[in-house]
Amino acid sequence: MSKDYRVLLYYKYVHIENPEEYTAKHLSFCKEVGLKGRILVAEEGINGTIAGTYDITQQYIDEMHADPRFSDLVFKVDEEERAPFKKMFVRLRPELVSLNLEDDIDPNELTGEYLNPTEFREAILDENTIVIDARNDYEYDLGHFRGAVRPEIRTFRELPQWIRDNKEQFMDKRVVTYCTGGIRCEKFSGWLVKEGFKDVGQLHGGIATYGKDPEVQGDLWDGQMYVFDERISVPVNHKEHVIVGRDWFDGTPCERYVNCANPACNRQILSSEENEHKYLRGCCHECRVAPANLYVKRNSLSEEEVAERLAVIGEKLPASV
Ligand SMILES: [Zn+2]
Repeated sequence: MSKDYRVLLYYKYVHIENPEEYTAKHLSFCKEVGLKGRILVAEEGINGTIAGTYDITQQYIDEMHADPRFSDLVFKVDEEERAPFKKMFVRLRPELVSLNLEDDIDPNELTGEYLNPTEFREAILDENTIVIDARNDYEYDLGHFRGAVRPEIRTFRELPQWIRDNKEQFMDKRVVTYCTGGIRCEKFSGWLVKEGFKDVGQLHGGIATYGKDPEVQGDLWDGQMYVFDERISVPVNHKEHVIVGRDWFDGTPCERYVNCANPACNRQILSSEENEHKYLRGCCHECRVAPANLYVKRNSLSEEEVAERLAVIGEKLPASV
């Protein structure tokens, strides 16, 4: 199959006057040209991942670049065999990314030093520099820069508290951060400066830019990059592929994400197809035996069949009350 589609990833922090009106107009433009994807609009700027054919995505790029506010907007472009979105959303938000701060950070006023891919690669190799992954734990687990710190967070808004709890490890060192496309680090690195960190850098354009850089070619990245669309993961390192993802159930190398079948949990776990069947796609015993388990429903398993599967892994159905 040929790669007829393009996926565009972009953001810009810039003041948008009357964001409600802008959101509505932007949505009708995107629908008119036939784009699919997800765009967030806030008074502080815009952030999107959108997809379409070459012509459709080019129309969008031209339209944005014709607007003085977005004339310098940088698009990271992936070529794909199909569009990884089914619908087109443009949503109005109070902020593009949320750190849950009392005083929000304006990256145009305060942010860490921008590092290009070559400079960032040097920072990874420098033993006096701490590299902090600014993404969530499940993103890290699929792939990350070699030796990077993994904050134990499931959403971005938990990051400041995690840093405060672990501060003494990093405070006196040079700290550099990275995220998918760079937007989270704009705020996070600014917050680090405000928090008193002396020497703070950020990977400009994020992992997406690093992976496409002809010089570094994704060097020192292990695993795959998690993305928030139907692709789920994309390659970064074009020199070597080291699998760092580990199967939730047996710890073997794995890069296949599934959601826990208990809708109340929905946790993203790495799992082989075999283990998905074996463990009824439940992350724990409670999720496996949850009455709402979607795996059990979709496969129309009877109570006996569920009991048989559980017996293999040494578990039992709870006694009915
Ligand atoms: Zn679960």
